[in-house]
Amino acid sequence: MKQAMIYKGFAPEELSKDDLAKINRYTRRELGVDEVYVFPLILCDNEIDRDFERFSIEALHKLRRLFLGKTGIFDHNPKGTNQTARIFHTAVEQDALRTTATGEIYHFLTAQAYMVRSEKNKDLILDIDAGIKKEVSVGCAVEEVLCSVCGKNVKKQPCQHTSGKLYDGVPCHYTLNKPTDAYEWSFVAVPAQPAAGVTKAYTADEQDCGSLNAVIAKLKATDTSVTFSRNDVNILNEELDRLHQLAETGEIYRNELKKEVLRSAALSGSGISQKAVSAIADKLTAEELRELKKSFASAGGKQPVPFLQTAGSLLPHGSNENTQFLI
Ligand SMILES: [Zn+2]
Repeated sequence: MKQAMIYKGFAPEELSKDDLAKINRYTRRELGVDEVYVFPLILCDNEIDRDFERFSIEALHKLRRLFLGKTGIFDHNPKGTNQTARIFHTAVEQDALRTTATGEIYHFLTAQAYMVRSEKNKDLILDIDAGIKKEVSVGCAVEEVLCSVCGKNVKKQPCQHTSGKLYDGVPCHYTLNKPTDAYEWSFVAVPAQPAAGVTKAYTADEQDCGSLNAVIAKLKATDTSVTFSRNDVNILNEELDRLHQLAETGEIYRNELKKEVLRSAALSGSGISQKAVSAIADKLTAEELRELKKSFASAGGKQPVPFLQTAGSLLPHGSNENTQFLI
């Protein structure tokens, strides 16, 4: 997920016939100039972002086509299916006076989106018009994620370089190339940003970037695919390691519990074979195993249940044969 910015909408008189014709390609009926609200967005650019990723200029041109017609949803009202906007125009623009960290001329993908002026959208339109910028999460799938140090496509062949780390004094970054799909975009309301002309900004969630919750939220926010930064991947790997360790501990605990169930079953005098109890135990959760152990123990409670003891304590006092355990 990348962050884009939307800006104040156009007044109806600013809309050209051409704009309206483009919009009406997506509508069920012809909409008039007073019925639509149009606002511009900057979707992405070729500058290295704080995930140490950037789009290639070629990718921006491909995304220009992919984002055309894509709808955006306002996340503060997920059920409000009417609160959607659609991109009807996209363009790759450049700022000849600005160069990126890699020395390219700054290129950015702009879009224009429209929404229907309705009672439901009134507040939203007011917000945008009031200059409260809305940030937009945009997502896309790319075929290539190229390491700036070795040039390898790390999506296919991981390399040993770490994004953000310095190599010969230059931080490693990834170039996102060959986009294959652009997803629906979603609006996130945020307070106005002090910096003007910001082309990429972050939501409150994104500021939490680097936390496991933020990475999981990113995962849950998509139902197709998502691009993760190197940092996100590291966080996920750490979490996987932690869960593996927990699972190992759980496995040990479960095996111990199963042994206790088998022992209680044997002592309960229920007559059920160890093999049958073992097969049942294998299908039970830890909670169920504890229950089973309890019921075997209470059934066996009618008879004296010997404790697990060392053989030594059962042997006559003074015996030396106390090295064996009676189980
Ligand atoms: Zn590399």
